[in-house]
Amino acid sequence: MSGTQFDLVILGGGSGGYAAALRGSQLGLSVALVEKDKLGGTCLHYGCIPTKALLHAAEVADSARESSHIGVNATLESIDLVKVNAYREGVVSRLYKGLQGLVKSRAVTLIEGTGRLTSPTTVDVAGTTYTATKGVILATGSYARSLPGLEIGGRVITSYEALDLETVPAKVIVLGGGVIGVEFASVWKSFGADVTIVEALPRLVPNEDEACSKALDRAFRKRGIAAKVGVRFAGVTQSDTGVVVSLEDGTTLEADLLLVAVGRGPNAGGMGFEEVGVAMDRGFVLTNDRLSTNVPGVYAVGDIVPGLQLAHRGFAQGIFVAEEIAGLNPHVIDEAGIPRVTYCEPEVASVGLTQAQATEKYGAERVEAYEYNLGGNGKSQILGTTGFIKLVREKDGPVVGVHMVGARVGELIGEGQLVVNWEAYPEDVATLIHAHPTQNEAFGEAFLALAGKPLHAHS
Ligand SMILES: Cc1cc2nc3c(=O)[nH]c(=O)nc-3n(C[C@H](O)[C@H](O)[C@H](O)COP(=O)(O)OP(=O)(O)OC[C@H]3O[C@@H](n4cnc5c(N)ncnc54)[C@H](O)[C@@H]3O)c2cc1C
Repeated sequence: MSGTQFDLVILGGGSGGYAAALRGSQLGLSVALVEKDKLGGTCLHYGCIPTKALLHAAEVADSARESSHIGVNATLESIDLVKVNAYREGVVSRLYKGLQGLVKSRAVTLIEGTGRLTSPTTVDVAGTTYTATKGVILATGSYARSLPGLEIGGRVITSYEALDLETVPAKVIVLGGGVIGVEFASVWKSFGADVTIVEALPRLVPNEDEACSKALDRAFRKRGIAAKVGVRFAGVTQSDTGVVVSLEDGTTLEADLLLVAVGRGPNAGGMGFEEVGVAMDRGFVLTNDRLSTNVPGVYAVGDIVPGLQLAHRGFAQGIFVAEEIAGLNPHVIDEAGIPRVTYCEPEVASVGLTQAQATEKYGAERVEAYEYNLGGNGKSQILGTTGFIKLVREKDGPVVGVHMVGARVGELIGEGQLVVNWEAYPEDVATLIHAHPTQNEAFGEAFLALAGKPLHAHS
C-alpha cells in the first residue's frame, strides 16, 4: 500500500474506532486511524474511566465517613479535589500510554487531525486524501446535549467541565436522572455537596427496570440526595454567585452549579457524511444490523449509531466491522445482550429485558420474575449494602433479564450476561455452586428460588 492508501480508513479513535483498528490489523488489514483529539476518545479521557476514578474516590470518602459505625475510628477531614483530579489523571494517562503503545505495536497508522469523508472511499485530513480499498468506518462519537435555549457556560456545565472542578460545590442541581446525572450526583454527595436531581420522566434511570428505579430513588433519598422526578426544566439564570433554576411546576431551586446531563447527541454533522449520501436520522448515522450504511463500503460504529451509548458496545461493533470487512461473517450483535452498569452508590446493573419489556414480548402470563433481597446475603450485610437481584424468565423457559441494585453489583453483571446470552434455564444454573460468602452467591440463591427450591429465602 502507498502512504495514503489503506485497506481500512477509520474516522475517530475512540472505543469503536480503535477497536476496529486493532482487530483489523490483527486480521492482516492495513489500517489508518484518524483522530483529531486523543486516541481513546470520550471513554478514556472524558467518560468511563475518569468518572469511575471519581466514584472510587467518593467510595473511599464514604468509607472514611462511616468507618466509626464498624469500630474503625477514622475521620474524613476534607476532599482535596486538586489531588483527586491528579489521581484521576494518573489513571487516565497510564491507560492512554498503554493504548498508544498497543496501537503502535499493531502497526496501525495514526493520523492526527480532523478528517472529512469526501467520497465512499476517501477521507481528507489537512489537505491529504487517504483512500480505503476495503472500507471506511465512521466512529466519530457523541457530544453532551443540552435543551433548546439552555446555553452551556459559566455555572451551567456538562460532564466535561464537571470533571475539572477544583473545589467541591456546596450545592448542585443535576438536570437529568439518567446514567451520567446520577453518577455525578452520587460523587458530589459523597464529597459533601447538597445535591438535587431534576428528571422530566417519572423516575430515575428511566431505561432500567422499574424496580431498580424505585430502589435507587429510595437509596438516594436515604443518602440525602433529593430527586424531583416527573417535572420539566423551564429555565435558568446565573450570576457571579450561583444559578437559579425554574421548573415548569413553578418551583425555583438555587445552587452554585447546574450540571446538564440530558443525554448525548451524535457527533456526525459537518464531516461530509450527508454529502456522500450516508442516510441519517436526527443526526445519527443509520446502519443495517451488519453496521453497513446505505453507501456500500461505508460502515458506522459506536455512539453515532442509534442504540445504547456504551463503550463496550463500541468495542464490540468495531471488532464486528473489522471482521465483516475481512470476510469472517461475524454474528450480528444482539443489543439486548449488552450489559449496562450505572456506577453510582448503590450501583445499578442489568442485562436483557426488563420485566415490562418481557411482558410486552411474551405476554404477562408467560413471564415469571423473582427478586432476591441482598438483606439475606452475608457479604452484602458485611458491606452494609441493601438492594436486590431480580431475574426475569420466560415461564418454563430461559432467563431473559437480570436487574440488580446494591454496592458493587456492577462486578456481578458478568454472570448475568452469560446467563442471558446463553439463554440458560434457572434449573440448569441452580446446580452450579457459588462461593460463600460473596455477593455473587445472591445469584445462586435467585436461581435456586426460580428453580423452585429456595434456600435462604422466605417463600
Ligand atoms: C461522563 C461519561 C461517562 C461515561 N461512562 C461510561 C461507562 O462507565 N461505561 C460505558 O460503557 N460508557 C460510558 N460512557 C459512554 C462512552 O464514553 C461512549 O459510549 C464511548 O466513548 C463511545 O465510543 P465512540 O467510539 O462511539 O466515540 P468516542 O469515544 O466519542 O470517540 C470518537 C472519537 O472521534 C474523534 N473525532 C470526531 N470527529 C472527528 C473528525 N472529524 N476527525 C477525527 N477525529 C474525530 C473524537 O475526537 C473522539 O476521540 C460515558 C460517557 C460520558 C460522557
